[in-house]
Amino acid sequence: QPRVVIIGAGIVGVNLADELVSRGWGDITVVDQGPLDMPGGSTSHAPGLVFQTNASKTMTLFAKYTVEKFLSLEKDGQSCFNQVGGLELATTPERLEELKRKHGYASSWGVEARLITPDECIERYPQLNKEMVLGGLHIPSDGLALAARAVQLLISATREAGVKYIGSTLVTGIEQTEGRVSGVITNDSIIPADIIVSCAGFWGVEVGAMVGLSVPLLPMAHQYVRTTAVPGQKDQNPLPNSASLPILRYQDQDLYYREHGDQYGIGYYGHRPLPIVASTLGPTPEDVSEFKMPSRLDFTPEDFDPAWKLSRELLPALKETEIADGFNGIFSFTPDGGPLVGQSPTVDGFYVAEAVWVTHSAGVARALAEVLTTGKSQIDLAECEISRFEDVQLTPQYVSETSQQNFVEVYDILHPLQPRDSPRNLRVSPFYTRQKELGAFFLEAGAWERPYWFDTNEKLLKELPEEWQPVERDAWSSRYYSPIAVAEAWKTRTSVAMYDMTPLRRLEVSGPGAVGLLDWATTGNVSRKPGAVTYTLLLDEKGGVRSDITVARIRDDLFQVGVNGPVDLAYLSREARIQTKNAPDKPVQVRDITGGTCCVGLWGPRARDVISQVTSDDFSDKGLRYFRVKRASIAGIPVTAMRLSYVGELGWEIYASAENGLRLWDALWKAGESYGIIAAGRSAFNSLRLEKGFRSWGTDMTTEHNPWEAGVDFAVKMDKKGAFIGQSALKGVSKDTIARKLRCITVDDGKSMVLGKEPVFVNGKSEGYVTSAAFGFTIGKPIAYAYLPAAVSEGDSVELEYFGTRIPATVTAEPLYDPEMKRLRG
Ligand code: FAD
Repeated sequence: QPRVVIIGAGIVGVNLADELVSRGWGDITVVDQGPLDMPGGSTSHAPGLVFQTNASKTMTLFAKYTVEKFLSLEKDGQSCFNQVGGLELATTPERLEELKRKHGYASSWGVEARLITPDECIERYPQLNKEMVLGGLHIPSDGLALAARAVQLLISATREAGVKYIGSTLVTGIEQTEGRVSGVITNDSIIPADIIVSCAGFWGVEVGAMVGLSVPLLPMAHQYVRTTAVPGQKDQNPLPNSASLPILRYQDQDLYYREHGDQYGIGYYGHRPLPIVASTLGPTPEDVSEFKMPSRLDFTPEDFDPAWKLSRELLPALKETEIADGFNGIFSFTPDGGPLVGQSPTVDGFYVAEAVWVTHSAGVARALAEVLTTGKSQIDLAECEISRFEDVQLTPQYVSETSQQNFVEVYDILHPLQPRDSPRNLRVSPFYTRQKELGAFFLEAGAWERPYWFDTNEKLLKELPEEWQPVERDAWSSRYYSPIAVAEAWKTRTSVAMYDMTPLRRLEVSGPGAVGLLDWATTGNVSRKPGAVTYTLLLDEKGGVRSDITVARIRDDLFQVGVNGPVDLAYLSREARIQTKNAPDKPVQVRDITGGTCCVGLWGPRARDVISQVTSDDFSDKGLRYFRVKRASIAGIPVTAMRLSYVGELGWEIYASAENGLRLWDALWKAGESYGIIAAGRSAFNSLRLEKGFRSWGTDMTTEHNPWEAGVDFAVKMDKKGAFIGQSALKGVSKDTIARKLRCITVDDGKSMVLGKEPVFVNGKSEGYVTSAAFGFTIGKPIAYAYLPAAVSEGDSVELEYFGTRIPATVTAEPLYDPEMKRLRG
């Protein structure tokens, strides 16, 4: 068994020790710089409100588990969770709508929740100012985590099971041997370790730096006050610090509330961001107390003034109280609001679990314990992966600006497509100037500027045939949308369009060991002769879909691999390192070539007419068949062309080095002019790919799904020559053994939109949730994909819930467009 050292005895660190112990691991040491009875991190003063429901399924499931676990942690007849319920208020019409959407998330992720009227809000919370309340969302299973108590109970339980705790000991460095961790260096010793997990909370940046790991979190102060006793509430909660009213959120003004006996606790996010550098806080004192700890800064009353006024309006009884105690407490924020979990991409054996709320603590700890002991978490971790960020997103400037923005927006109503205003224009493709000239509307992903549609295509709307006319949408689904996308889809299906595919992540895998690595890591036959392109999967040990990738064999020992993101890069790089170490005669290298290259998707029935104007290479059907790759020259520019298309039309992904990109774009554009070529954006793209049933990794499939469930089993070659990762877990799995399946659904009225994550009701019961959705411009109906029980069949009626309204829809055979693949193989 490996020797594990956990840095940090906050709620995350001790939960992790406990989860490892319960999985049979024994050699565990937990070190904290503070005294163990109160180490002085964020947990030491956390008021412990647990609102479980979140747009993220992963985070909601983490919270659900935290509730279950804390309910089961008992001593002297008292658990570590006070299940008073949660009440989220609407005081504006927009929030009332948002609560409906949130109710949908609760149904999707299996949390019982109810939208309640203003009268019901008052019934549950008589102190509220009735005048202000428009409605609420009540979640009976929410409540208060007694985090500090849970820490102490877990410490004594795991200590009995053999876990060693070392308090008041600062970790100052990490010892490494041959790229792996080997020990934790403290101020007075070295603790040998095979696995080190940093659960250092907002000190994560400093601990990460010990192994050269950029940990993208920003510690920030957040204000919390306790009022004096509310006269009318005396003796209401007999136990000190206890509560009986639901935890309360007043998100329209960035406020939340709980009871502490007959006092109120008030948390506020409405103040200016107050970033901190942890290393400037100085050493944790020996005599940590509630009022003296590194995570507690002096209260700045001027920042709290608006909150105090707003709180007394909402809860008039507070007018009879004063602020008894206030502080600026520190915890972590990240660029995308998610936690940071997983292994360092470069130093083996170094893991982190940071930027985790008490709410998600047990869930995150269980997930990481599963990863360590079995190689996989049952809940997908993509949104938490420490390696999910692009390089440019790891700079201190980026982390600081975006994390502060996350603090500001923590309770805001955010549209799923809403981009940040800043920082922008971090990564642009070589075609950016042309895109700007064409009036591109850009959204951002992975720090790339990505055109969604082009204003200059507006004129095409006049030419649209009757059956292509855009359908009116509701206000929410009209945001970040333009009917111009319809015209771009129409042109792609009937003529030819250029798509900027540059942001697609691509790697070069090379060397004598390249084919061996890819054969072992993927489900497909990638060892075919140069010229072959394979759509294949990366699975985890349990057969869950880790990613879907395209592997193009350019030469015997050179592959170009299209992957989904930095997590795939980290994964394949690690596998390459391991293979090269184990078989030095078959070295393999993985190199990210995304930034140095670019890609145009040239697609549509006239694509071949266009390309033949600018090349003497053979782009006929025979010259380059579907799913083949070759090197060619286009207008004198060396390119790699792959006959692939996500939009389901004839054409190629054409790759060139970045410095030739603009010339490539211009040459294709000029050649296409007589065919009416256009530039098209992501809005059209998403519609066209869903019509073709092409899955998108991260939404339509994750590690929680096996290939049969996700409908990508065609990419799994169980009988291929060598073994592959995940193969043994899939033995015996077939379409007949799975309990759920990704299904294609179309909306009956031909117009009601959904956007993703909405619950799907079968016979009135929530049985699944929407993974991807778009209006299918060619088929003239909204399309949604959703995981549904295997017993649901094509032709069955279902309902999608959108802002509280049920939309009738039908499970439909897929793909909806060109099932015979005539267009692609033409
Ligand atoms: P911590 O509790 O900070 O533990 C990290 C530990 O690592 C510390 O004990 C520290 O001493 C140790 N450490 C760090 N560096 C070293 C080193 N070099 N050597 C040795 N030891 C080291 N969350 C909720 O879910 N609900 C809420 O209502 C809520 N309210 C909050 C209100 C306030 C005012 C604040 C500040 C936070 C709140 N949070 C809330 C957030 C929550 O408190 C934190 O996210 C959570 O406690 C973090 O737990 P942790 O174990 O990761 O970190």
